[in-house]
Amino acid sequence: MLTASTDIRYLKGVGEKRGEVLKNKGIDTVGALLRFYPRAYLDWTDITPIIDAHFYENVCIKARITTPIETLKKRKDMTIYRFLIEDNTASLEVTLFNQTYLANKLRTGREYLFYGKIDGGFIYKNLKSPIIMESGFMGIEPIYPASSKLSSKTIEKLTKTALSMVQLPETLPEEIRKRNNLCDINFAIQNIHFPKTRDNLNRAIKRLVFEELFILQAGLTFLKRQNRGKSGCVIIDSYFDKFKASLPFELTNAQTRVCKECFADMSSGRPMNRLVQGDVGSGKTAVSAALIFATAKNGFQSALMAPTEILAEQHFNTLSSILKNRNINIGLLTGSLTKKQKEKVKLELKEGKIDIIIGTHALLTDDVEFNNLGLVVTDEQHRFGVNQRGKLSSKGENVHTLVMSATPIPRTLGLILYGDLDISIIDEYPKGRQKIDTYFVNSSYRERIYNFIKKFLNDGLQGYIVCPLVEENEALDITSATEYYEKLKENEFKDYNIGLLHGKMKPKEKDAIMRKFASGEIKLLISTTVIEVGIDVPNSVVMLIENAERFGLSQLHQLRGRIGRGTKKSTCVLISDSKSQDTKKRLNIISKTTDGFKIADADLELRGPGDFLGNRQHGLPEMKIADLFADRDVLKTAGREVENLIKTDPELKNPENSGLKAEIIELYKKINNN
Ligand code: ADP
Ligand code: MG
Repeated sequence: MLTASTDIRYLKGVGEKRGEVLKNKGIDTVGALLRFYPRAYLDWTDITPIIDAHFYENVCIKARITTPIETLKKRKDMTIYRFLIEDNTASLEVTLFNQTYLANKLRTGREYLFYGKIDGGFIYKNLKSPIIMESGFMGIEPIYPASSKLSSKTIEKLTKTALSMVQLPETLPEEIRKRNNLCDINFAIQNIHFPKTRDNLNRAIKRLVFEELFILQAGLTFLKRQNRGKSGCVIIDSYFDKFKASLPFELTNAQTRVCKECFADMSSGRPMNRLVQGDVGSGKTAVSAALIFATAKNGFQSALMAPTEILAEQHFNTLSSILKNRNINIGLLTGSLTKKQKEKVKLELKEGKIDIIIGTHALLTDDVEFNNLGLVVTDEQHRFGVNQRGKLSSKGENVHTLVMSATPIPRTLGLILYGDLDISIIDEYPKGRQKIDTYFVNSSYRERIYNFIKKFLNDGLQGYIVCPLVEENEALDITSATEYYEKLKENEFKDYNIGLLHGKMKPKEKDAIMRKFASGEIKLLISTTVIEVGIDVPNSVVMLIENAERFGLSQLHQLRGRIGRGTKKSTCVLISDSKSQDTKKRLNIISKTTDGFKIADADLELRGPGDFLGNRQHGLPEMKIADLFADRDVLKTAGREVENLIKTDPELKNPENSGLKAEIIELYKKINNN
């Protein structure tokens, strides 16, 4: 008997070879085939009047052939048939290539259905080789993501076979379906593939979108609870006062509160899984330092992972200075150490001689081993995937995990990305901070801004100029950081000590420049976006961003976060000559607000979720049908239903929920294999 979990190989019409092709597409079972949804539909019921048929659109047209079928012989091997069709709105030209059988069947004066892409002809709009049906034909055909080895038609045929033999278990409890007006699973599966009407298709889509977002969130909730069930090493926080005494400033109330929330987790006997969210400059590093210090005092090792070497080195310096004379051994592990240096650090780590290791992705490699890892901190979490966070934690047992992030992730997406974490928010800036003033101007102001910057430098303060790319790209007319630097050094800023920082420099060079900038030797840093995350030099109070239109809103916010870190008033100037309305809108938003949440939401609205989810490795399973942004309302509703369900059946023991449970287990596998 065939079931959803039967190997796809055993479905009629598949066999060994085609089975492999299907498996390469991720279709390994009959159930997976049923869950392989069409990417589009050929909808013979959705008729477009010719007058409304736009270029390059796929349309279905119902029209009469009004001219004889004209035959043109182009070459020996090519016959072209041409005729006009007309509905009561306009005419259109149709061309067929070598389709003699079809051409002979068509009758002038009769009405047919034509499906294809609209192209330009000399006089008329043109349809090239459309699919043609008798005009009475009704139906919606699925179009699957096909490949040369597997056509859409083949997938369609196999899916029909599977549908006639297998029923899928229901994954949504009846009560939830009723409340949200959702059809049952088998109606949905039948109609996502072979809908009789648009309405049925829409009902199927509605249900499957809800289901996908429901299972995603249920899965994350269980992941969270699963971690809760484990035991965590116990870290007692009786060292907090000592820690505070070694800081050069007083913690804000928000920082103290967040530290206490973390200590409550870490002393509970269960592992902490917490996200600390705080806008740029809110002081997340100090919070992590407090936990790291306590962990060391309790005899456990900590690891702090940052996305760039510069940032890792900066953290290393910060922690070394806060924790000096405390008999705590701090190590640094980045890709740019020599092999020998790395070996030494790894050995000391393994032997437990290093209490705190700070590093980049280099910490993730398999040969990095710990003696007794107790705490893993990931800084700028949005730069890492869920799986990377997990990988570092898995190097110890009962490890506490803290992830820190500024807030470029909009709330709706944060819910998903951090669904398995508890959240603490630092919603207060250190005392004495002033709002950063931001201006948006065109390049005719450049000279004046240089003079403005010089005034700050003359007062002993520092600043940044940010350019988008390292190398000259004339085609895009982008100011190259290197050339820009040379020019300033020889002209406008020849009396000042300025430095250059970009991603293609050797780590040692970068480090040397950063050190000189931090010590105040370099007054003005010309940089690419390598300074985007985390860099902390509070004496910098002015920033000029060139080609500001090239940056996303959240990125501009991060960049701007490099200033305004001390008690002095800071100013950010954005230069752009872009005439685009969209750019103006974006740059106006960033000029008006410094609230990271608002900026992220605006960015999401203007540019879509790609920047947050697409390019970055976030480690979540790929959505088959739902869109985390477009379906964000459904996301919320489904989230609430997950909460309800967990309250009534926390273990999903109710037989009604077994289908759901199976899907969640399937999802775990995917998250973990990612
Ligand atoms: P972020 O949250 O962006 O990572 P940092 O941890 O780098 O911010 O802190 C920003 C700056 O604020 C640093 O120079 C840090 O020393 C300083 N800082 C942090 N907490 C306080 C505080 N409570 N009082 C004064 N300055 C602080
Ligand atoms: Mg930081």
